[in-house]
Amino acid sequence: MRSTWLFRSPRKWMFLGGDFMEGRELKELSSSEQEEARKAYHRKEQMPSPAGGVLEPVRVQPREEGGALVVFECTTSHVRYGLEIPKATSSERKKVRAMITSSQDPHCPRCGSSERLRRVGEFLGCSRCGVVYATVR
Ligand SMILES: [Zn+2]
Repeated sequence: MRSTWLFRSPRKWMFLGGDFMEGRELKELSSSEQEEARKAYHRKEQMPSPAGGVLEPVRVQPREEGGALVVFECTTSHVRYGLEIPKATSSERKKVRAMITSSQDPHCPRCGSSERLRRVGEFLGCSRCGVVYATVR
């Protein structure tokens, strides 16, 4: 999986690599499938594809408002699905702030302690799910 962030301006995230969509359409998952897929993704479980086979994450595209779009590809049909990851909640942001103030290495509250947050520009986010949890100056 490739997850590349490029910092462009204080408010804008941009995805590096012009082949992001490769001219391919993203299929939508139903809202119940989205819900299941989000849970499974954060738990690092294998995700069944609606077409049979398994969904493999191929890209993470951070969104401007702090959430992200994760693109999955079905191992059987090669159809790609987009999954919106909502931005951080205020309690998640608080958790991260508490980790920083207690001099812990902050990790992603959703993906678990193995996913350390990375700083890109002034943002602190998870490279696995693309969510931004803090602004650092
Ligand atoms: Zn994460």
